[in-house]
Amino acid sequence: MCGVFGIYGHKDSSRLTYLGLYALQHRGEECAGIISYDGRKIYSHKAQGLVREVFTEEKIKSLRGNLAVGHNRYSTTGSSSTKNIQPFFVNYRGKPLAVAHNGNFTNTETLYRKLEESGSIFQSTMDSEIAVHLVAKYNTRDYKEAVVGALKEIEGAYSLVLMMGDMVIGARDPYGWRPLCLGKLEGAYVLASETCALDLISAEYVRDIEPGEIVFINKNGIESVRPFIEHKRACCIFEYIYFARPDSDIFGRNVYLARKELGHQLARECSLKADLVTPVPDSGVYAAIGFAQKKNIPFEMGMIRNHYVGRTFIQPLQSIRDFRVRVKLNPIKSVLKDKEIIVVEDSIVRGTTSRGRVRTLRDAGVKKIHMLVSCPPLKSPCFYGIDFPTKKELIASSHTVEWIRDFIGVDSLYYLSKEGMLNAMPISRGDFCTACFDGNYPVKPEKRLSKNVLERKVK
Ligand code: 5GP
Ligand code: MG
Repeated sequence: MCGVFGIYGHKDSSRLTYLGLYALQHRGEECAGIISYDGRKIYSHKAQGLVREVFTEEKIKSLRGNLAVGHNRYSTTGSSSTKNIQPFFVNYRGKPLAVAHNGNFTNTETLYRKLEESGSIFQSTMDSEIAVHLVAKYNTRDYKEAVVGALKEIEGAYSLVLMMGDMVIGARDPYGWRPLCLGKLEGAYVLASETCALDLISAEYVRDIEPGEIVFINKNGIESVRPFIEHKRACCIFEYIYFARPDSDIFGRNVYLARKELGHQLARECSLKADLVTPVPDSGVYAAIGFAQKKNIPFEMGMIRNHYVGRTFIQPLQSIRDFRVRVKLNPIKSVLKDKEIIVVEDSIVRGTTSRGRVRTLRDAGVKKIHMLVSCPPLKSPCFYGIDFPTKKELIASSHTVEWIRDFIGVDSLYYLSKEGMLNAMPISRGDFCTACFDGNYPVKPEKRLSKNVLERKVK
């Protein structure tokens, strides 16, 4: 997970980057950072927290220059300590070399070993730092050659935004796991994880950066190269199911419509009837709409989300059961009491939040609860940047659907079939990575990429 943003050629580059990160907040809520450059000096501000907490008006004003790159972090490798906040940057030949990365490299161990043996000293525990060292190792003034050479050594998932001297660079790995798009605003070029970031700053969507494409943007305009061997695409299907914002187009197609179509597929596969359909907000809403429309069953918002929930609160009384669930979602008793309901959830990961939600629905007097999940059981860890890196975090990796049904406490539980999921997708089924559902990994990671491995490395 993570959100990346970059802009070249705008006098308000930092402010626009701040807004871009604001729109991409859902991709990472742990840390945020912006690096800018005015041709003479590199400016940087990074901290833990949400974008609106990290940046003040003053801070934004202090980030000068007409190029900037930014990052929202959701740690998938490396701890979330301050040294791991991106964009990661160094001063290289008196100019900035900065990287903002979404994804996970899969040959990290080999690259670490190789770079350390040749004298690199790592400052963070993020795999992303490797890209900076690889580029610097080329020791050439030809930035393009250095970037192409460096990226050819990296395996795995990356959508990258780099700043190198007076240039902003966008790159997507040849499999295309993570999204990255290109926009234009008043003559300036913009790179962003999702189109919702372009919308917020009124930038025009130009196109996606293609899998295996690197774009170099500087005062001469934009130059595109495709230096990699052609691969089968492996766009992350979980971006459509859960991760991306529904108002974004990713991989060239809208997310909201894809999620609604997942609901249509659920309706085709599942013969359930009930008094009403209700989503788990917000992520389950879109499939629930699709399902209810297709089935002609009334759609109700049976649970209301409190939008003011921060990440920390004064510890409540021990006696308040499922406090974390309750503070976020509150069931409406008058809608739910004595009803047989269908709850639509986008995905079940650990099963613990679903379990808590079902308990509060029972407390609200629901008669019968059927749960529909808009994707198949998540069985295999993701090595490409979604935050379920081990099997034990996935309830369906070691338990049957019946067991999960009983654990969550619903009367019935139905997962969408893999076939149904693929049928709902707006791009060709062969272009997806579905490893988290079927264990077919397009690129095997050379070693477990657990946070612990990386943490041990620096000790
Ligand atoms: P569970 O019941 O498995 O504990 O939680 C499922 C919920 O987590 C779903 O509503 C889904 O929207 C959300 N979810 C799915 N994938 C992820 C993820 O990778 N990280 C986080 N934080 N939430 C997720
Ligand atoms: Mg959810």
